[in-house]
Amino acid sequence: MTRPYLLAATDREPRSRFYDVIVIGSGIGGLTAAVGAARQWKVALITKSVLRDTTTFLAQGGIAAALGEQDSPQLHFDDTIRAGAGLCNEEAVEILVNEGPARVRELMEICPKFDRAGGDLVLASEGAHSVPRVAHAGGDSTGSEVASALTRAMQSGSRVQVLENEFVVDLLTSGGRCVGAVSLDPGSGAFTLNYATATVLATGGCGQVYSLTTNPTVATGDGVAMAYRAGATIGDMEFVQFHPTGLYSDESPIFLITEALRGEGAYLLNHAGERFMVGIDPQAELGPRDVVVKEMVRQMRESGQEFLFLDATHLDCGMLQERFPNVYHNLKEKGYDLCRDRIPVAPVCHYMIGGVVTDIWGRSTLPGLYASGEVASTGVHGANRLASNSLLEGLVFSDRIVRHLDSYIGQARDEARGGRLELPRGDRTGSPDSLVASTRHSLQKLMSSRVGTVRSEEGLMAALEEIGTMEESLASPGADPEQYELANLLTVASHIVKAALLREESRGSQLREDYPSQDDINWKRHLNFRLREEGGG
Ligand SMILES: Cc1cc2nc3c(=O)[nH]c(=O)nc-3n(C[C@H](O)[C@H](O)[C@H](O)COP(=O)(O)OP(=O)(O)OC[C@H]3O[C@@H](n4cnc5c(N)ncnc54)[C@H](O)[C@@H]3O)c2cc1C
Repeated sequence: MTRPYLLAATDREPRSRFYDVIVIGSGIGGLTAAVGAARQWKVALITKSVLRDTTTFLAQGGIAAALGEQDSPQLHFDDTIRAGAGLCNEEAVEILVNEGPARVRELMEICPKFDRAGGDLVLASEGAHSVPRVAHAGGDSTGSEVASALTRAMQSGSRVQVLENEFVVDLLTSGGRCVGAVSLDPGSGAFTLNYATATVLATGGCGQVYSLTTNPTVATGDGVAMAYRAGATIGDMEFVQFHPTGLYSDESPIFLITEALRGEGAYLLNHAGERFMVGIDPQAELGPRDVVVKEMVRQMRESGQEFLFLDATHLDCGMLQERFPNVYHNLKEKGYDLCRDRIPVAPVCHYMIGGVVTDIWGRSTLPGLYASGEVASTGVHGANRLASNSLLEGLVFSDRIVRHLDSYIGQARDEARGGRLELPRGDRTGSPDSLVASTRHSLQKLMSSRVGTVRSEEGLMAALEEIGTMEESLASPGADPEQYELANLLTVASHIVKAALLREESRGSQLREDYPSQDDINWKRHLNFRLREEGGG
């Protein structure tokens, strides 16, 4: 029996490279892990695009951590648990909020652009935080500032071998362990077996499974799909977070308007010009994301419109320009003046809460495989992520992975090298490019229409059937990133749908119109999936 790989051994004879650690992905999870691991180990960081092409680079609002005088890890814990709608892993949340402040302070030492006033850190308010808690850099350019600082730190040590534009196709397993990953250089068509004692998956989310998403095109759920094929447990896939304020447009990705704008006092208005969140949540526009999205959906249905409005026209224009330069200038380019216009907004796919199930050291259920950042399901977000906790999660858990590597590598090195690797054999000519492109497009439309903010058994069943038909229409992928991505998107989509269908309740980001209530008796639990060994393929 061989496990399923997307790659077939006859595609091209691969070459080999050897490391202690490989890190897959160049966002906050991957960069933090690579910088830390390289202090002691031989490390390669592999990314399928250029280093800065990440979700991390797009992050606007900032990083949540108990750094303010009125704040404490306990308050941050309470807010995270409340937002998570009964499904947070409390041990993981405790680690997040207690280790978070030290990790953010360390980050500030290499990233001088965190915003300060008179020497004091400026902390912003965001949805469902009970105190201002979100540290930001360059106004609303936190992601690019942080990613650039971490990249400089990685490059200045020059101990990490950086491999850009290399597509990781599959994890390599041998003897029940992950022993590295196979990558494709799309330019030359060459495959490489990257052997490593430990592999850190930091491949980000899967927003591209939807047609309307804030996520960049690299967010195709590759990490979840390859971990699943390799036998790791994945979970909480039904919990896809929709952000309340994507700019209403048909662009891809959708431009996000940070929650911090509502933190500064911007309103959400309906088509009658009313602040509809007042009376729905004690924090009105700053309620948890799932609560705001649910009411937005109700308002849009009632008015028959596909969008609502974000209104900052009552706020000081100078403050808006200084505090939100990125949002201000991007909106200006798209024909909106944040100081004068009501901005049309709609909920949009934003964040994958589920993913590769890990313990508090970032270990997946497959020995040798760690996961960090959006690809991981540490349990800190429960059923609904608290705003700005995701950059923090990547920082905190990558640091823990680095600490854990020290004991793991010493003990596992020989075993990881001893195994015999078996790749499946077979011809993989793949499907025509036009079919691959049209199937990706159809899948995204299907997920947005049937598996979006509001779900029902009827829609989910139809979606599952259509995904099955799409899978059947495609040949096994040939050596081409587009084909691999489509296979991964289909794997991820089918697990989102299956989990959403099984969970017969509404909780956090999962809203079922046929099961509108939260059902703690039957559903205060997680839904996990793991592939059983089956015929190669
Ligand atoms: C517009 C926007 C704004 C946001 N704002 C905030 C915010 O203010 N605060 C906050 O906490 N969170 C925010 N988030 C969420 C947060 O940015 C992400 O959850 C986080 O950055 C994910 O980091 P990551 O390291 O897990 O993945 P990413 O940053 O997405 O990096 C993934 C990496 O994996 C690589 N990769 C993927 N597949 C493969 C493959 N097959 N082979 C090789 N490489 C691969 C990619 O190329 C990329 O380098 C925002 C998200 C968006 C979209």
